Amino acid sequence: MTFEEVVQFHGHSCPGLALGYRVTALVLKELGGRAHDEELVAIVENNSCAVDAVQAMAGCTFGKGNLIFKDYGKQAYTFIRRSDGEAVRISVKWTPPPDSEEEKVMWDRYAAGDRSQEVVQVVQSRKTRKMEGVLKASDNELFKVEHVDVPLPEPARIYKSVTCSVCGETVMEPKTSRRGEDYVCLPCAEKN
Ligand SMILES: [Zn+2]
Ligand SMILES: [Zn+2]
Repeated sequence: MTFEEVVQFHGHSCPGLALGYRVTALVLKELGGRAHDEELVAIVENNSCAVDAVQAMAGCTFGKGNLIFKDYGKQAYTFIRRSDGEAVRISVKWTPPPDSEEEKVMWDRYAAGDRSQEVVQVVQSRKTRKMEGVLKASDNELFKVEHVDVPLPEPARIYKSVTCSVCGETVMEPKTSRRGEDYVCLPCAEKN
């Protein structure tokens, strides 16, 4: 998959997506091809733009259950090959080139909500420079790569469906509480 194809999936090009692209390209080289089913599992430690590259390129998706999100706010990605448990953790160690004085000023104005043309232009070109930096850097400059031992997550499970006695909607059984013989879904249980 080219970076342009990943951009199409994500909707715009940005430094975060470029990082995800580089992470996933490296992992596919280390662990073999993309996951058609669930043979590759990704544990991502953030929910930034980068994760869209993981989904598009590695086939580790939210819907298939082989994308596990840990809300740690870290640029770190662990991939596990189910067939033999081989696992790689990639953490980003790259620091972008420093901002110029002008960029710092414009960035502060942007962060404060200023969307005037002079501000947006500088912010955009800074973004592009960062993105190109990521795409050009070597794997060594970008990442720390470790082969790690992690327990294999359970494959996606299929649960029995039941009907919520309050709203009448269908819900998977483990996401309900019992009231006598009845099942109650979580949002209904929270309401009363
Ligand atoms: Zn993005
Ligand atoms: Zn309900």
